[in-house]
Amino acid sequence: MSDDLTLHAHLVGRQGSRADLNTPVLVLDIDALDRNIAAMAGLAAARGIGLRPHAKTHKSVDIAKRQLAAGAAGVCCAKIGEAEALADGGITGILITSPVAAPHAIERLAALATRADGLMATVDHPDVARRIDAALAAQGATLDVLIDIDPGIARTGVASPEKAVDLARAIAALPALRWRGVQYYCGSQQHIEDYAERRAAIVERTDYLKTVLAALADADFAAEIVSGSGTGTHHIDLDLGVFTELQAGSYVFMDKQYCDCDLTGDGAVPFEVALGVDARVVSANHSGLVTIDAGFKSLSTDGGVAVVRRGAPTDSFFAFMGDEHAALVAPGIGERMAPGDPVTLTVPHCDPTVNLYDHYHVIAGDTLVAIWPVSARGRAR
Ligand code: PLP
Ligand code: MN
Repeated sequence: MSDDLTLHAHLVGRQGSRADLNTPVLVLDIDALDRNIAAMAGLAAARGIGLRPHAKTHKSVDIAKRQLAAGAAGVCCAKIGEAEALADGGITGILITSPVAAPHAIERLAALATRADGLMATVDHPDVARRIDAALAAQGATLDVLIDIDPGIARTGVASPEKAVDLARAIAALPALRWRGVQYYCGSQQHIEDYAERRAAIVERTDYLKTVLAALADADFAAEIVSGSGTGTHHIDLDLGVFTELQAGSYVFMDKQYCDCDLTGDGAVPFEVALGVDARVVSANHSGLVTIDAGFKSLSTDGGVAVVRRGAPTDSFFAFMGDEHAALVAPGIGERMAPGDPVTLTVPHCDPTVNLYDHYHVIAGDTLVAIWPVSARGRAR
């Protein structure tokens, strides 16, 4: 990083060139980012629905600030460590979307509640709610909570309307907790590539959510906040109108997985690819392939292979070659590209890729305009 940080020092008062960057490097197109932030904010505002975008995607104070400036009520964070990093960077309205259950994490949650404006957490078990309440009482703090509802994937959340009501009653008896509503994130439906199929699945899951909300209301627990949705289902969820706020995250960057999904049903693409990894050819000794400097340590591998967006022949395809390298494969590519040639890759899956980098190199066109820290990098607990 030191060469980049030296460059950063040069940037005070002047701008640098993307071509000078050592690779592999995480590059963020600031204009595309801002258009994505504005597009989602506009879609939600047009329906009168709130936005609490998920910051697990970007882990960045700088990006969260831009989302808040565009009207978001706050951001979501996956873990207590992520929430601490963003709250300490001045971000307000944080909802922690995963259960906080470890004793040390509960203590830190209570401590964060004393200093983070508008903090909320999710709970899915009365025992954990009681432990959080006790930790809050010891700090003299209070905390708003949502009940996490399992959308049928058995990951987190209460598993029936009856359990939701039981948990609401348990929370009502705990003086340091204030119940505000529910969270419902349909993770398995987000990447169904076909729009009609995704819509049918979400309509069915939303019918179930309505039964949970009705059971809660019948027991005198009318949910004020209904938080959920993602990039894959935002268009459908806005239309169904059951959520009071959307938690979509990946839309700020887009990645190969989401580029493969028809997000709107009519082929219209509401968001642009704003994130990329710039890599370069480091070896070109074979006719049928060249080797680039980005492997497993530079791109998450759970989402398939990267796509070459710029700098390589359009007939070339990407193949991982291990921790440090990948190949670009095409007939005669070894004669068409040379060591040092730059390429830009679209990442397979944005969230885990971002977590591999200390910094975003922020570009406008091909000019480096800023270097932003990945503020909550590695804060998985
Ligand atoms: N909400 C929760 C609870 C999530 O786990 C995620 C992503 O995994 C999101 C929202 C954001 O979804 P997406 O990245 O599909 O926009
Ligand atoms: Mn993801």
